[in-house]
Amino acid sequence: MEELPNGFTGFNRRGPGFTSAGDAMRKARRSAEMGRDETHYRESGRKAAQHGWQLPREKLIVGEQRRGMGPQTDPTDMKRYLRVPDVLAGEFGPVYDMQALAEIPEYDRRWSWVEISLSAIRHNTMTVKNSLQPGVRLMAVVKADAYGHGAVQCARTMLNSGAEQLGVATVDEGIELREAGIQAPILILSEPPISAIPLLLAHKLLPSVYTVEFAVRYAEAADSIDQRAPYHLKVNTGMNRIGVHYSEVTEFLRQVSFHRALDLVGTFTHFATADEQDTMEIERANNRFLTALDAMEAVGIDPGIVHSSNSAATTRFPQLQYDMVRVGLSLYGYYSTPEMFGMIDLIPAMSVHARITDVKNVPLGEGVSYFLTYRSGGYAKVCTVPIGYADGLRFGLSNKIDFVMEGRQHPQVGNICMDQCMFEVSQRTRGASFEHLDPQIGDEVLIVGAQGDAFATIDQMAEVLGSMSYEVCIGFGNGRMPRVYV
Ligand SMILES: *Cc1c(COP(=O)(O)O)cnc(C)c1O
Repeated sequence: MEELPNGFTGFNRRGPGFTSAGDAMRKARRSAEMGRDETHYRESGRKAAQHGWQLPREKLIVGEQRRGMGPQTDPTDMKRYLRVPDVLAGEFGPVYDMQALAEIPEYDRRWSWVEISLSAIRHNTMTVKNSLQPGVRLMAVVKADAYGHGAVQCARTMLNSGAEQLGVATVDEGIELREAGIQAPILILSEPPISAIPLLLAHKLLPSVYTVEFAVRYAEAADSIDQRAPYHLKVNTGMNRIGVHYSEVTEFLRQVSFHRALDLVGTFTHFATADEQDTMEIERANNRFLTALDAMEAVGIDPGIVHSSNSAATTRFPQLQYDMVRVGLSLYGYYSTPEMFGMIDLIPAMSVHARITDVKNVPLGEGVSYFLTYRSGGYAKVCTVPIGYADGLRFGLSNKIDFVMEGRQHPQVGNICMDQCMFEVSQRTRGASFEHLDPQIGDEVLIVGAQGDAFATIDQMAEVLGSMSYEVCIGFGNGRMPRVYV
């Protein structure tokens, strides 16, 4: 038996070839779900296209034209970027106008960017809000910079379209929203370190609480400056991530009840299986939550705002909405499970764009990109776009996805590099007739987006990667590419 440095023995570590019953079940389920994969992303692509989530083909447009300065303006007219006329600068050389230089947009410095449709965010928020049971409040979850869509911009749009509260993961995410002037209640969805308590009080951020020590230190800190210490109690009903065990909730409250500054303003749990087809586990978790709420009622404690549901649970189980729901993914326009397609109408808010930086004919049999994993079939034009795995276009997608240009899907070919990758425009292009396609440097390509019947979706990439839409959109949005709001 292997001795591990922390004193644990390795006895429960799996040997090679070990398959638990759970693993076998998961594997079976995964392969059953495989049959649905194609429908899953085709459906979200179709929905995107239906909602006019498309772009006309654009020829090269430089920043001056985008900014309405007219096509005649020369982007390299250097006179506009100098502070003093050249003759006066003399022997020290030109003095640049840093402000004028800063006005050259990021998407004209490198040809890849992310567009976020705030009207899609608005549509999704109103749709979710209208689907709720009467009187149920909507907390918009904007953690991880709004899943890569930009926390401040999204939070403002969501609050203007029916959301009442905001949920974040970290204290700094809460502070960012406060510093942008947002006044709505902000819940931190986990318990921060005790050392962050002064920040909670100063910025009026609500913590989720599940340890006695945090509760007491928080209350004492608030009391010392004559403030209240409002919080939401997190209940563990079986996910076993964080929370007071559902059977110990009244005992926990008894232990902290001596402190007069504490205000229990909400009680909540989080389900581990809200998007799973089988509903047995979520029913079990909800029964545990009800047990905890009943126990609180029995000793006369008001649980405040009761909430349990994320996106999937909100739409799939309206009876679990309680007083409020915490919705993230749906507001950005992604479906947690294919089952939700018929239940709610969402529009993906993120599209990813690039412009062609190189075009070449690659003769039959020649390879493309590192390790030459792709070989040209001839008669193909290989185009390069400046987006790679450092921008969220994950290496695991290499040779397995299509991009969209001129209303057609074009296969990405060769290994995806850190900052660039290639795609092929040829007769094997999906949906192409034998019409001539003539890609040029500067032409716009959709890495994620829809145009006519052609689409490339985040859901599709998530399927290829064995990941989830959450991770893929965060990868694009929170990486190196500029975000543009449209
Ligand atoms: C992230 C999160 C949510 C939102 O989940 P979605 O599936 O994106 O709707 C809700 N509750 C908690 C506790 C979370 O961490």
